[in-house]
Amino acid sequence: HQPLLQVNGLVKHFPVKKGLLAPKEYVKAVSNVTLTIQRGETYGLVGESGCGKSTTGRLILRLIEPTAGNVFFEGKNLSHMSKEEMRTMRQKMQIVFQDPYSSLNPRIPIGEAIEEAMGIFALGTVRERKERTMQLLDRVGLNEDQYYRHPHEFSGGQRQRIVLARALALNPSFVVCDEPVSALDVSIQSQIINLLKELQSDFELTYLYIAHDLSVVRHISDRVGVMYLGNLVEESPTDPLFHEPLHPYTKALLSAIPHPDPKGKRWRILLTGEVPSPLHPPSGCVFHTRCPQAQEACTQVIPTLRQVRPDRKVACHLYG
Ligand code: SF4
Ligand code: MG
Repeated sequence: HQPLLQVNGLVKHFPVKKGLLAPKEYVKAVSNVTLTIQRGETYGLVGESGCGKSTTGRLILRLIEPTAGNVFFEGKNLSHMSKEEMRTMRQKMQIVFQDPYSSLNPRIPIGEAIEEAMGIFALGTVRERKERTMQLLDRVGLNEDQYYRHPHEFSGGQRQRIVLARALALNPSFVVCDEPVSALDVSIQSQIINLLKELQSDFELTYLYIAHDLSVVRHISDRVGVMYLGNLVEESPTDPLFHEPLHPYTKALLSAIPHPDPKGKRWRILLTGEVPSPLHPPSGCVFHTRCPQAQEACTQVIPTLRQVRPDRKVACHLYG
């Protein structure tokens, strides 16, 4: 069956100019990302800040244009869509950002903001929009008398609930969640994660969940993709990834968090050095400057992401 989303060879280079006479250089934010997401699935995309995961999310939604590569949504290439098809797509694909302050207009009562979103896509009558807004406020754990309140009257967690209600008002099938709980207190994070899971089954949503926090990804994702310096280096169902990471970078990421299973430590790797600049990523395997298992070939030959087990992919010469 057809996946909901298929991403092929996505590349994004941002031009930067360091001075008037300096040659144009490029930040290689995303070098080569290929992945598919099935209907109803949560795909967790993890990596350190600056690895290209947020850029990947924005590229998938066409909020920014890719340098190369294609995104297919419900089998249709987003870059070949008519204006009308693009409009429908904009409605079906939503994004929730980390900072709920910046995603809500401080001057507009939250109920109106939700209705306005429906109005833009001409969904329902004025009366139907109001009714639906009330239902959605209730569904995300707020109440109807909060309709006329302004964003500043709510806590960060409540604001994220409002943003979710507004996204759901458009009947999306796919939602990019870009670190939606990173700015919230730990005690609130699990409430929002649980709400996201409930909404997923109620509204038949598919998620791309972007995070640097592995424990959050573990709780919400069916599969996980690990990014390093613009590249997808490993992809796996969630539990196998945490029990037996394959890529040395994944091992390093997992070694840095407390592990309940002492046997897990058999793959422990400690990272040294800094992440290289995306202006000049290393040749060959981008991880070779920090990889304790790097070999001669790693500095020359780019490892491609390939299947090494029935459901697991890794980009590393150790799995040849
Ligand atoms: Fe390390 Fe080489 Fe594998 Fe890259 S390809 S992760 S440098 S062993
Ligand atoms: Mg980010």
